[in-house]
Amino acid sequence: MNDCIFCKINAGIIPSPKVYEDDEMFIINDIDPKAIKHYLAIPKKHFKYLADMTEEDSKMVGRMLKKIADLAPSLGLEGGYRLCVNQGDDPGQTVPHLHIHVLGGQKMDFPKL
Ligand code: AMP
Ligand code: ZN
Repeated sequence: MNDCIFCKINAGIIPSPKVYEDDEMFIINDIDPKAIKHYLAIPKKHFKYLADMTEEDSKMVGRMLKKIADLAPSLGLEGGYRLCVNQGDDPGQTVPHLHIHVLGGQKMDFPKL
């Protein structure tokens, strides 16, 4: 097991209830929410950057986006939602495992996560 927080959550080593899970992704609540609803959609495969994706990885991330859209009403995101993927130092990526922030539950006039 590597030292990655999200790999450890996936393995159950760090507790964090999974809001959704299938064989290639899971969704958790962000521990430090920046909106009333703030989820993290995380692929089970560990990689840091979109630039690291294989063709199959990119299809899997496409399926993740579809799953987020399908689940949105049941996640309290009926009013819409914002997706954000921080990549690298400038936007402040802190966890080196690709994740999609899913924010909503309120009007969002703020630009920063
Ligand atoms: P980023 O800054 O884009 O890498 O986002 C990492 C996110 O992971 C931050 O919003 C953190 O609040 C969140 N986070 C870190 N540790 C945990 C954890 N144990 N459970 C849930 N979310 C976490
Ligand atoms: Zn990982």
